[in-house]
Amino acid sequence: MNIIIFGPPGAGKGTQSNFLIQDHGMFQVSTGDLLRNELKKVSELSKQIKSIMDAGKLVSDNIIYSLIEKKLSDKEIKNKIIFDGFPRNLDQVSKLELMLQKHDQKISKVLNLKVDYSILIKRLSGRISCSNCKKTFNEFFDPPPSNCCQKQEFIKRSDDNEETVSKRLKTYDNETLPILEFYKKQNKVVDIDAMKQITEVRKEIRGIIAS
Ligand code: AMP
Repeated sequence: MNIIIFGPPGAGKGTQSNFLIQDHGMFQVSTGDLLRNELKKVSELSKQIKSIMDAGKLVSDNIIYSLIEKKLSDKEIKNKIIFDGFPRNLDQVSKLELMLQKHDQKISKVLNLKVDYSILIKRLSGRISCSNCKKTFNEFFDPPPSNCCQKQEFIKRSDDNEETVSKRLKTYDNETLPILEFYKKQNKVVDIDAMKQITEVRKEIRGIIAS
């Protein structure tokens, strides 16, 4: 089955995707990660993408579609995909549905991770990750252990600052949230309280996937 892990930035989509990979052998397709990968290339396009991401806005749909098309045509991950950060507006939903049809696939469930915005701002502005093992921590409520990895180097995403975070949340409200209606009409949305402990959320998702 393919699923969409849905929710505002900082809801824990990446963390729970990692559990889905471990628990169910699924494959994460995160458009944010794919874009950050593109940023490693030195080009005019990567400069443009970075300035859009740092402004908390959405990157142009056509760039996103070319990244997604590559993944949907990959037979290794067929019907085992977790879409994380995509679709992010109604045009992306229509395009995704067309691409899924073309590759004889569908979305089975949309896991809607719900978190109060006041918590999200703290989660995102304190978010850091280990440059070696990529594990995510929080400077405020989940500081990294002194023995995380030998190098002890932690990275902060350039769009995880308070100003960009509040713009990202506005973009989410205006452009992304309306998507839920489309999937609600198809009875595919499952609401999850993502303010609970990470392990509780993991357990709940396991139950949903098993059913
Ligand atoms: P994320 O890692 O999902 O929080 O995404 C980080 C940033 O990448 C977003 O704030 C957008 O600028 C961009 N981005 C990620 N996914 C998409 C998408 N599906 N459509 C447009 N822009 C995206």
